[in-house]
Amino acid sequence: MRLILLGAPGAGKGTVAKLLTKLDGSVQISTGDILRGAVAAGTELGLKAKAAMNSGGLVSDDLIMGIMAERLQQPDCAKGFLLDGFPRTIPQAEALKILLAKLGIKLDFTVEIDVPRAVILDRLTTRRTCSNSSCQAIYNTKSNPTKVNGICDKCGSPTIQREDETEAAISKRLDTYDAMTAPLVGFYKKEGNLLTVSATDSNVVVKAIQDKLAG
Ligand code: AMP
Repeated sequence: MRLILLGAPGAGKGTVAKLLTKLDGSVQISTGDILRGAVAAGTELGLKAKAAMNSGGLVSDDLIMGIMAERLQQPDCAKGFLLDGFPRTIPQAEALKILLAKLGIKLDFTVEIDVPRAVILDRLTTRRTCSNSSCQAIYNTKSNPTKVNGICDKCGSPTIQREDETEAAISKRLDTYDAMTAPLVGFYKKEGNLLTVSATDSNVVVKAIQDKLAG
């Protein structure tokens, strides 16, 4: 399957993407994970992205499009992909449309995961992420805690609260979403290919996607 997953930070895009990858071998492409990996590795990309990320703002469209043009041509995308956290601005959506046409790739549809703001705030402040950049497993101190407090179940590295998951950064990220990314809902609605799912349970979102794929 080839989908765009839209939704505010904390809406469950990553969780839904991971569940979907198990269905047909599609790969999850998270620009946030790619950028965090680059920051941790101290690459030029990471250095350019770090300040915007930590403040809850957005990394430039040019940098993001450079990453995606390369990523979408990698062989593991052949079975399908789930775009998680991209596109995030109207210029990215327009550039993606041109890129996909150039690569001869057709998307199935865009999914908007709609979750109440109060749920999102609660989820993000209790989220913990594995500090190992090649793992980046996600936990939640309330709903999905690690077996040993503060230690990743998968790789044994410490889990941390991300710098962009402090209350101040979260509030800025949600403002950024409203201003820059929420307009994409209208963009994809106009394209006639949008599935909106209002659900806090990721399995419900996955089921709605499966139903639409089955036609
Ligand atoms: P995420 O994990 O998707 O919430 O992304 C974490 C941070 O990475 C965001 O708050 C942005 O600073 C940056 N980022 C991720 N994806 C994009 C994108 N498509 N465009 C611009 N910035 C992005």
